[in-house]
Amino acid sequence: MVMRQTDTAFGPRQMTGAFFAPEAPLPGGEEKGSPTGDRCGDCPASPWWDAHVHLDRYSDPKAVLARARAAGVAFLLAVATDAASCRRLLALKRRFPGRVGIAFGLHPERKIWNRDEVESVLELLEAHADEVDAVGEVGLPHYILPETERARPPWEAVEVLDAFLDAAVRLGKPVLLHAVYHGASIALERLRRAGVARAHFHWLKAEPDVLARILSEGYFVSVTPDVLVRARDRDLVRRVPLAQLLLETDGPWPFDGQPAEPAWIPRVGAAVAALLGLDEAAVRRTVWENGRRLLNGRI
Ligand SMILES: [Zn+2]
Repeated sequence: MVMRQTDTAFGPRQMTGAFFAPEAPLPGGEEKGSPTGDRCGDCPASPWWDAHVHLDRYSDPKAVLARARAAGVAFLLAVATDAASCRRLLALKRRFPGRVGIAFGLHPERKIWNRDEVESVLELLEAHADEVDAVGEVGLPHYILPETERARPPWEAVEVLDAFLDAAVRLGKPVLLHAVYHGASIALERLRRAGVARAHFHWLKAEPDVLARILSEGYFVSVTPDVLVRARDRDLVRRVPLAQLLLETDGPWPFDGQPAEPAWIPRVGAAVAALLGLDEAAVRRTVWENGRRLLNGRI
């Protein structure tokens, strides 16, 4: 089945992959894997993992997971962009147990004033709280705003973020944030207001003082494949304690003209290890432990 959907963040696109109601039986049932093992054959006890990927945006998630496993990437945390995305991710988690964590949220670079969509995602979050691992991707818009409005995102966007943060606290879930530049500082204040204990600022771009405040709260930040080539991201690695660093692809977001995949994570990790003068296994172990802390052991 092929669905067409218009998405303000990513432009009109053709989305492939089946759409399942949460209650619907899954075609083909459960794939190989279990909640505790068999995630990637002879993976080490602390394998690589991808902290932020849009698994439902690939036309063949099974192939993406197979390539990840072959590369030694045992687990990924898949983030939602809207209600339909939440439902697709729930189906993928059930199909690939132990290998896919899921977050329910509404991407902030969308039309945040669509209250029906906000309510739908919040309802899905409550209804499937036992299976949902985190709240995300939520945050504040930046790229869709005119440059003159970026320092002060619309109040509706802050209200929507607050609603998700309150839900995360109530349900005991970590928050996966899209909040960059001015948005990072504002989101940090909202996290404090809501009392969010565990959060990940994905692909962070922020001033050094904002980064310092994020780190002092104990939150995580991540780097993407950009760390292979971009000075800004390499600099971020040097400023963040390894115990608060995560690795992500944000796939299928393209890097160097190619759609990123979780299978790229070992290359990202190798770049981080080289920057820090550590061996790759040390980075891998620490980043895995970071994931266990972010997800309260649900990894
Ligand atoms: Zn994303």
